[in-house]
Amino acid sequence: MTHVSHSLDAEVIVIGAGVIGAACASRLAQAGHEVMLLDAGEVGMGASFGNAGHIATEQLFPLASPEVVRGSWRYLLAADSPLRLRLGYLLPILPWLARFVWAARPRSFARGVAALLALQESARDDLAQLLEDVDAAQLLHLNGHMDVWESESGRNAALALARRLRPYGIESMPVSASALQEATPALSRGVQGGVHYLDSGHVEDPHAVCTALAQDLLKHGGRIQQCRVEQVQAMTSHCATLTLQDGGTLRAQRVLICAGAWSKPLAASLGYHVPLDTERGYHITLAPQPASGSGDRPALNRPVASGERKVIMTPMSMGLRMTGTVEFGGLHLPPDPRRYALLQRHLQALLPGANTDGASTWMGFRPSLPDHLPVLGVAPRHPNVFLAFGHQHLGLTLAGVTARIMTEVVLGRRSPIELAPYSVDRFASW
Ligand SMILES: Cc1cc2nc3c(=O)[nH]c(=O)nc-3n(C[C@H](O)[C@H](O)[C@H](O)COP(=O)(O)OP(=O)(O)OC[C@H]3O[C@@H](n4cnc5c(N)ncnc54)[C@H](O)[C@@H]3O)c2cc1C
Repeated sequence: MTHVSHSLDAEVIVIGAGVIGAACASRLAQAGHEVMLLDAGEVGMGASFGNAGHIATEQLFPLASPEVVRGSWRYLLAADSPLRLRLGYLLPILPWLARFVWAARPRSFARGVAALLALQESARDDLAQLLEDVDAAQLLHLNGHMDVWESESGRNAALALARRLRPYGIESMPVSASALQEATPALSRGVQGGVHYLDSGHVEDPHAVCTALAQDLLKHGGRIQQCRVEQVQAMTSHCATLTLQDGGTLRAQRVLICAGAWSKPLAASLGYHVPLDTERGYHITLAPQPASGSGDRPALNRPVASGERKVIMTPMSMGLRMTGTVEFGGLHLPPDPRRYALLQRHLQALLPGANTDGASTWMGFRPSLPDHLPVLGVAPRHPNVFLAFGHQHLGLTLAGVTARIMTEVVLGRRSPIELAPYSVDRFASW
């Protein structure tokens, strides 16, 4: 174990105890370093709490794509659109949307695919190893997911996507309606077929993933403290000071910013201006259903996604969860209850008769940069400050690979992949 000078509070401070910060903190502590993990709230209660739990290794195409730009704009203000802009957030989001359109140009989209692919190549194995190392392998189920359709156009789109992904090594196979009904009798008769993606998976409780990582940190001598960081200052290359909301300060040799959708002001306090915003997403989670007989099967044994409805249903240990929608509404507008009603309608259409009594609802903040790549690496002008945020729709999927990369970088070693595409300075020319 490395010991810190008594004038410092920790060797490494990680800001943000979501899945990204907790994964990095746990890996750094396992490597023998004295780590303090800070969060304004409790561990894993940000976006990492209520996500779909999908280990989405098939998602190689950034949302900033020519298709999305062509197809979605006319729906942006419609109440039941899967991609929605809250009128009250129109002005603040405009610069982000302009960059999004810019990032969707074919050449930058192609660069985005290459950059996502570089992370996704090892993401599944890194996550599986991470969960095994923190004694949480039982939370992870690597039996793929289904992408189902209810119409001819849905079928064409789903098969075209599967074909487009195959050259990248994403394996899938078509499944007939009758095979789907056989395997999943609860699915609606309106479901006409699907594609089984073989190498994806899910976790049965995303929040439990975060708490397992935090427990592992404590086991390796790390500390967790509840406080809100207001500012980061890197005084020298050996010491960074954090100013806390309560007026206190903390000092560490190295600081890693992993504050998800809230990372923007922390990076700005060091002079890095990132166009980070949030794509809000919603879920409803059904209450556990009482077993009515010994032959009862859970409604689903793997996630079922609908590309037509832009939702995914995941069997969680606490009940079935339906997740979806992207809403541009910033960090402060209240949730829109019509989004929950929309998810309920999709749920009833795909799983008729699902019992929504006692279902819980939640909205969370995906941390998203306009090009849909995270920021990863050392802060270019502050060698003792490190950045890992902006994982958009893929933070859970990419937590293991992010933690492996950031552990190397924070310890001053070579990153296992080239980090230029994820540089915080990539937006500087704007
Ligand atoms: C509806 C929905 C569905 C999703 N589904 C999936 C999925 O199926 N698969 C997948 O891979 N990803 C999914 N995601 C994305 C994934 O949840 C996120 O990318 C991931 O949780 C981001 O993790 P994070 O640690 O960066 O952020 P967060 O989990 O938001 O954590 C950030 C933490 O930083 C803390 N913090 C913020 N500011 C400060 C401060 N100033 N001082 C101290 N602490 C601070 C917050 O309290 C918070 O705990 C989904 C997201 C949503 C919303």
